[in-house]
Amino acid sequence: MIVVMQQGATTKQVERVVQLIREMNLTDHVIVGAERTVVAVIGDDRFKDRSVLESCAGVDRVVPILAPYKIASRQTHPETTVIPIGGRHGATVGGRKLCVLAGPCSVEDKSMLLEVAHGVKQAGGSGLRGGAFKPRTSPYQFQGLGEKGLEILAEAREQTGLAVVSEVMGAEHIDLVARYADVLQVGTRNMHNFNLLAALGERTNKPILLKRGWSATLEEFLLAAEYVINAGNPNVILCERGIRTFEGYVRNTLPLAIVPAVQRESHLPIVVDPSHGTGHAYLVPAMARAAVAAGADGLIIEVHPDPEHALTDGAQSVTIPDFEQIMRQVRQVAEAVDRQI
Ligand code: PEP
Ligand code: MN
Repeated sequence: MIVVMQQGATTKQVERVVQLIREMNLTDHVIVGAERTVVAVIGDDRFKDRSVLESCAGVDRVVPILAPYKIASRQTHPETTVIPIGGRHGATVGGRKLCVLAGPCSVEDKSMLLEVAHGVKQAGGSGLRGGAFKPRTSPYQFQGLGEKGLEILAEAREQTGLAVVSEVMGAEHIDLVARYADVLQVGTRNMHNFNLLAALGERTNKPILLKRGWSATLEEFLLAAEYVINAGNPNVILCERGIRTFEGYVRNTLPLAIVPAVQRESHLPIVVDPSHGTGHAYLVPAMARAAVAAGADGLIIEVHPDPEHALTDGAQSVTIPDFEQIMRQVRQVAEAVDRQI
């Protein structure tokens, strides 16, 4: 970081800043300019408390240079991380080949899940999504089938070879979900649940699909990933799923610029969820194409055989034929940006 002193700051004030920097076991380098003095701080200062210097007399501002996340940062790991997601087809995320995860919002029963699973497989998807534990706004809404839903997902993997993605809502369910699913999803509401993130890092090596909190900044998103990696699991797949804004014609606003921004900041793969990102099935194909054009490493799309009767998120779920068409279109976009499906 760089400490910029106020114009007219006294020598005593500069000395106090230097003393505090040394107390942090960092090295100072004082540069006296014509207008004002700045103090460059040398050493790894990203875990130090900047506010100590900010509140010092004579300090104008403190400018951080290093990102606060370390192991998630591309500075420490220049190559994009490629993560195998499981299943029998060798699917990965982060490489040249895109990873398309698709399936219903919730596992509702065996026949609908198997129908979607075969549809996803047929269309060339890489993995099957399906919630067994559902984070619902109201306690009176369908909460998911729990372990029964996980059993159905495992059967769908057995039949299709697709990797299975399912949400884990609390640390008490990590072992249970990890027993059945290949990829554990952390939902938007849990991105700030630091106990869950750390527990996932400690208790499993399976990939974690970490959804961006709907009000989280890019920095907070990457720090959430840092929690998982720092606790021992390097296999974090980031997922942009839209954020809350003033805009009402969509359920969430899908900020696709985060894709190249994350790729500049971090080596972790990032997939885009155009279903939650818009809330409307008619917007999903265009945003899926746009996400791939923006360089996303994959997509996660809600697909339902009969969206009108879906127990959760029917309005944003596409049908199986719609999904097939999305795959055809996205394949062409992928080629145009030097990727494959
Ligand atoms: C989901 O994937 O169905 C889901 C609940 O997602 P989010 O956490 O992004 O709302
Ligand atoms: Mn959903």
